[in-house]
Amino acid sequence: MSGVHQSEDNRGIRELGAEELVGWDAVTQGVVINSFEGDATGVVEKKAEERTYSDFSSYTATVASWRVIKPVYNRDICIDCQNCWVWCPDTSIISRDKQMLGIDYDHCKGCGVCVEVCPTNPKSLLMFGETEDNETALSGWPEKKKKEK
Ligand code: SF4
Ligand code: SF4
Repeated sequence: MSGVHQSEDNRGIRELGAEELVGWDAVTQGVVINSFEGDATGVVEKKAEERTYSDFSSYTATVASWRVIKPVYNRDICIDCQNCWVWCPDTSIISRDKQMLGIDYDHCKGCGVCVEVCPTNPKSLLMFGETEDNETALSGWPEKKKKEK
């Protein structure tokens, strides 16, 4: 399916060979964790794949391997409101020129926030089991709910 990226690279700290990094439970209060290497000026204008993420960024040390359920995206219902893009804590909604394109499964951790904030009826994003085929998920999409009187 176009616009949907399947997970191929669920690297964690160990797989990256970065075990010497301090774990989250050893980080002291007030510490600054840089998302990018060096000067981050202009990073907003760059696409994710063009940015120089630091080893601390969840883009580098992805948490996608945590995922047991995944969001599936239905283009037919989406109104491109960008709510999911704004709220995703792992920048895993792929959007270009204000058009929602799909999910970055290499970085999505399956938290479900994008589904919660999607305003359409039915929702344009729904959570399914990690192993469920996306086409199967799309074929059983719920119908529009009628307003209760
Ligand atoms: S499930 Fe969570 S991490 Fe994945 S795309 Fe949705 S909001 Fe982002
Ligand atoms: S929140 Fe829902 S309607 Fe809005 S862009 Fe995301 S998928 Fe589309």
